[in-house]
Amino acid sequence: MISLQEARSHVLDTVARLDAVVRPRAEVLGCVTASDLVAQEFIPPFHNTAMDGFAVQAADTVDATESAPRKLKVVDTLAAGANPRREVRAGEAIRIMTGAPMPPGADAVIMVELTETVAGGDTVMVHAQVPEGNHVRAAGDDLKPGDPVFHRGAVLTPGHLGVIASVGATGVEVYPRARVGVMSTGDELIDGPEPLGPGQIRDANRHTLLALLEQANAEPVDLGLIRDDEDAIAAALEHGAESCDAVLTSGGVSMGDFDYVKAVLSRIGEMRWMQIAIKPAKPMAFGTIGSTPIFGLPGNPVSSMVSFELFARPALLKMMGHTSLDRPTVQAIADEDLRRGPDGKVHFARVLASYGEDGRYHIRFSGGQGSHQLAAMANGNALAIVSDGEGIEAGGTVQVMLLGPT
Ligand code: AMP
Ligand code: MG
Repeated sequence: MISLQEARSHVLDTVARLDAVVRPRAEVLGCVTASDLVAQEFIPPFHNTAMDGFAVQAADTVDATESAPRKLKVVDTLAAGANPRREVRAGEAIRIMTGAPMPPGADAVIMVELTETVAGGDTVMVHAQVPEGNHVRAAGDDLKPGDPVFHRGAVLTPGHLGVIASVGATGVEVYPRARVGVMSTGDELIDGPEPLGPGQIRDANRHTLLALLEQANAEPVDLGLIRDDEDAIAAALEHGAESCDAVLTSGGVSMGDFDYVKAVLSRIGEMRWMQIAIKPAKPMAFGTIGSTPIFGLPGNPVSSMVSFELFARPALLKMMGHTSLDRPTVQAIADEDLRRGPDGKVHFARVLASYGEDGRYHIRFSGGQGSHQLAAMANGNALAIVSDGEGIEAGGTVQVMLLGPT
């Protein structure tokens, strides 16, 4: 057996970042930027008001109070999107709505709540003194031409997309989503709702793996359910390796008589067969066909998910330009015994983590811990990392990898 760290380093050292591409804004959510984005325009593009109210000369409001208001003549109205037709002179005000350009001559805005209009709207009584620049948003006070909007390596969020749109950029240079093929293998597997024949089970892994890829912002490609047949497996692998940036297989990599994935990959790929000191997910094959990385994940459903989390996901994130490759880990209190025996392996227990009122994370088992008992992955949100030895007693602390919201 090799250590988790050794297996992981081998995988991460083998995969390379994909070449950067320019993609339309609508396609880059979750992608990593490959260059700095620099503003080409002033944002906001012009002086404008942050409030609904009246554009005035601040000097006209001096000493104004509710009991001794200043009286100004309302000479125009400006909505957002309007182009000012006239200036504000001493003794005048222009009614103005949030986002409208400041009219020439005005140097402050008094908000509508501090005014009262009279004479059918032709006159406004100003109830407070406001300083110069009051509620005025200056052109370029968010961004100016040449300002960096964000740097290379940013993981694009909805906020970034809004900023990209507001600076008028249409394309963004990013590392592309990895196209990743997924196939399940096994003569016992069927897909769909038809009744199970003797010895049959339904394919779970292809569906969890496709969803895990989607969640990792990769582009999942369904390569189908492949029989335990060397020619069929070889054809599917060759097609996958040619058309995808990486391929995930599940099943057929252990020591059984019909583990043909192993036989085929050994023939057409450059593979390393690993027995990793972890439970579940001890067997894993990793290598390349041509230059395409191939992950031979174990067949047991929990094992294939754990193997994806520990090896495939970080590798794919690296290919997609990420530098932070790991799920977050936190220290948690075990609310029940996480007993185990020494076996030279690190155990990953399927648990439900929650954030307690005591300000600590707490965990409990999320279901049966067999590597075929996928319900525990569905009902859990974390893996407790139980190092080799006797395990952890209730009340003890344990490191936990968070896979989803707590
Ligand atoms: P294998 O690695 O092919 O020997 O499979 C190990 C165990 O996982 C066997 O019990 C298989 O029936 C089961 N298994 C393999 N592939 C899948 C799959 N796609 N969905 C559900 N169970 C599977
Ligand atoms: Mg099999």
